[in-house]
Amino acid sequence: MKIPLAKPFIGEEEIKAVTDTLKSDYLSLGPKLKEFEEDFIKNVRAKYAVAVNSGTSGLHLCIRALGIREGDEIITTPFSFIASANCILYEKAKPVFVDIDEKTFNINPKLIEEKITAKTKAILLVHVFGQPCDMDKIIEIAKKHNLMVIEDACEALGAEYKGKKVGTFGDCAVFAFYPNKQITTGEGGMIVTNNDKTAELCKSMCNQGRASNMQWLTHERLGYNYRMDEMSAALGVEQLKRIDFFLKKRREIANLYMEKLKNVPGIILPEIRDYNNHSWFVFAVRVKEGIDRAEIIKKLAKEGIASKAYFYPCIHLQPFYKNEFGYKEGNFPVAEKVSKSALILPFYVQLNEEIINKVVSSLKRALS
Ligand SMILES: *Cc1c(COP(=O)(O)O)cnc(C)c1O
Repeated sequence: MKIPLAKPFIGEEEIKAVTDTLKSDYLSLGPKLKEFEEDFIKNVRAKYAVAVNSGTSGLHLCIRALGIREGDEIITTPFSFIASANCILYEKAKPVFVDIDEKTFNINPKLIEEKITAKTKAILLVHVFGQPCDMDKIIEIAKKHNLMVIEDACEALGAEYKGKKVGTFGDCAVFAFYPNKQITTGEGGMIVTNNDKTAELCKSMCNQGRASNMQWLTHERLGYNYRMDEMSAALGVEQLKRIDFFLKKRREIANLYMEKLKNVPGIILPEIRDYNNHSWFVFAVRVKEGIDRAEIIKKLAKEGIASKAYFYPCIHLQPFYKNEFGYKEGNFPVAEKVSKSALILPFYVQLNEEIINKVVSSLKRALS
């Protein structure tokens, strides 16, 4: 039996909803899109939601909607999925990386202020692996320096910081629905904001720059085709109905891993801040110094168990960033240290204790 890293949970309800949509008159710009956006607004408790065809396109539209342009500097993290920095480059602005906190893997607020210049326009933070960033400190810094805040919440649907849902702290936020995320639409994303103008701009730009009251071939501004289709939206509606079950199940699985890996030498377990309601995206342990992570991954693979180095390499050490901007090893030592040691294990709601035991015993064998 092969044990994959991630796997979506698709029930009969999802299959029926997508099939019904295929039999309907609307495959795009229909009722399911609206329904998904409205359900999403209720779930995250925000004013507006705009569905798009990926998390990456959502981030791009946020950058544009906030008026970020060539030469602007955006503070962000080097320990993330590449899209959170690329979206800044799409508009020829400059990602200014700030090192992370070794325990939470999130941007370290203590290091932000020294990177702020006259050109800094915003902080684009990432709630890495579903753990909310230190929002009190980040919002305080943003207010003090008059900076906008964009939340990349693509890995953090359902997470709360001190009782408030992530995605509602900044000027806008983005969630994503690739099949390994907490809920999936195949490909898809959602922009969330409380700002009327930002919502209107994102809605228009994702639909070729049309304004809501305009004819089909009238375009008010530069736009894109970043629309979510009806099949994806129908899938999203059904998945969102299961979100509480998904989050609970993921928490149970994470707790089982925590319990069973507690005293395993060579492993550092994830640390969750007690004021955070963590939304488990992946289960990431770290291997201690001196342990060959690549060897462990190979050994697990031989036993049919998928695992992966995550996020490796860091964004600034990706070939494109090294070539384009001259970043080097040592620029962000904490992010690099975490990136060299983090290992994700199989994590999805269909996991049971028997499979977890198999993963844990294989990992123990690989470490010994
Ligand atoms: C998944 C993810 C995205 C968006 O990914 P898409 O594949 O474009 O939906 C963006 N940022 C982070 C941190 C992610 O994990």
